[in-house]
Amino acid sequence: MRRKIVAANWKMNGSEGFAKSLISELKVQLSVLDKDVKVVIIPPSLYVAEVKRLVSDAPFAVGIQNVAQWNQGAFTGEISAGMAADVGCEYVLVGHSERRQLFAESDQVVAEKVQQVLKSGLVALVCVGETLAERQAGQAEEVVSRQLQIALQGLASDKWNKIVVAYEPVWAIGTGKTATAEDAQAMHLHMRGVLGSLGAPASDISLLYGGSVKPENARELFGQQDIDGGLIGGASLLADDFASICRAV
Ligand code: PEP
Repeated sequence: MRRKIVAANWKMNGSEGFAKSLISELKVQLSVLDKDVKVVIIPPSLYVAEVKRLVSDAPFAVGIQNVAQWNQGAFTGEISAGMAADVGCEYVLVGHSERRQLFAESDQVVAEKVQQVLKSGLVALVCVGETLAERQAGQAEEVVSRQLQIALQGLASDKWNKIVVAYEPVWAIGTGKTATAEDAQAMHLHMRGVLGSLGAPASDISLLYGGSVKPENARELFGQQDIDGGLIGGASLLADDFASICRAV
């Protein structure tokens, strides 16, 4: 179902104390948030269970930043999608550009992870986006198309309601540079076309924008017709900024 979503990717930041104080602040600041907006908190894996407990009296969902492409076994250090589901996770980030670039996750691995997430009944928040060199070479749409096609090809028709896509141009992540609202809208519209060609009910899928979203630019980005919310990194660590971004949806 297409809905408005704002997801907080804490990346490798925070602590138990940080989680406690940020969540308690967000509960106050977002107590009157529009019921149609889904807020998803995605802390480091180690704090997922604790954050789940902290949000038990708030309408926030919890996600995990990564899962393995396998379901269980001798994979030291890995966490399966089933384990994430077991501790109450609802969303899984898959294919974040930091995973693709720093941990060499290929499109194929991203596709395998999507399958694991869906098998566990969770929502896959699939991240796609081009690098600066790819954009400058005029390849942005081609790259995003390929990432979507490999990650999501052959999905059964009853699985699309567990897919959310985040367009995150790599050059905008953590850099302070944001895509213009027009460019972001154009890419989101393009993605709906690609999803449609893969057999998805494209107009029912939530598409998020991510990349240096701040309170100052959120309203314009989220005001675009095909942008249903955001995946927020740095600004999600600051209660005032994140709450203000959530209110901008
Ligand atoms: C992200 O990590 O997904 C992200 C969008 O980061 P930032 O908001 O800091 O650019």
